[in-house]
Amino acid sequence: MLEVKDLWVKYRSQHGRSVSAVRGVNFSIPDGTFMGLVGESGCGKSTLGFAIARLLNSQQLEISGSVLLNGEDLIKMSSRELRKLRWDKIAIVLQGGMNAFNPVLKIKQQFTDVMKAHGQGRAEDRDQRIAELLRHVQLDPALLEAYPHELSGGMKQRVAIALSLVLNPELVILDEPTTALDVIVQKAIVEMLQELQRHMKFSVLFISHDLGLVLEAAERVMVMYAGKIVEEEPVEVLLEGAKHPYTEALLSCYGDPQAKELRFKGIPGSPPDLSKPLQGCSFVPRCSKAMSACRELEPQRLELERGAVACHLYTKMQGGIGK
Ligand code: SF4
Ligand code: MG
Repeated sequence: MLEVKDLWVKYRSQHGRSVSAVRGVNFSIPDGTFMGLVGESGCGKSTLGFAIARLLNSQQLEISGSVLLNGEDLIKMSSRELRKLRWDKIAIVLQGGMNAFNPVLKIKQQFTDVMKAHGQGRAEDRDQRIAELLRHVQLDPALLEAYPHELSGGMKQRVAIALSLVLNPELVILDEPTTALDVIVQKAIVEMLQELQRHMKFSVLFISHDLGLVLEAAERVMVMYAGKIVEEEPVEVLLEGAKHPYTEALLSCYGDPQAKELRFKGIPGSPPDLSKPLQGCSFVPRCSKAMSACRELEPQRLELERGAVACHLYTKMQGGIGK
């Protein structure tokens, strides 16, 4: 179980300005859950993923709050403890992950190096495990003797996913894992991931700017805007109707597939500058439902029966604000 509590990440620039990329985020991922995280580029979703895996260079930022993995706070861990935990408990697959292989080492060696670094047993056991993983990602184990340049982009991304699973992690964070791939390969990789997750029972945090893809891949979705989670829900609940006006706008960007004429709308305006202090709701300038209270008070996360939302429309329904 992963629990993120009041997590803040502030980048410090050379000129003394700071940018709050993640602003007081709270959520949890129960064991074995496929969680999606969606938002426009620059909304802080990658920073959030990196902060959870503690992959950010702490000299250039301030990080506060807690990230509890089965009760242990990753934010308080030393770099030695973190090294042991990464890959073993938390693994991460990046968009460019498929280009991060060492070009002069055969695929098999890349797996063996990780396993050896984490003290994984005898050579024969390792070989067996690696071949099995390759089959799990629907690749022929014969490819273990290939060099990275001999594989296609889709194959390399499958290998990157297999490599992330080599130590049986509890949580796998995937940041735009299929963005560089064509739609058909993308779909095949998502289906493979779902299959793997059901079989190996790890939890997933799947980060993407593509709401359609996230809705297809995940069981639950978190929508991020300007460094905050503004809505979180099971996919089937979200598909019945978004609660937050931003999620609604994101959904409407896809148009109605049943309609005679497909119309894709954009969301007018742009996200706020996170290096400046914000007052009220960060979506105000783009929100068609904004009320006067939205300009003054920042909406807080409100727990609902099956999810959560941070918007005054819901605070109002509960009698929390006046107008
Ligand atoms: Fe719109 Fe107000 Fe809700 Fe923000 S709090 S999304 S401005 S209605
Ligand atoms: Mg990103």
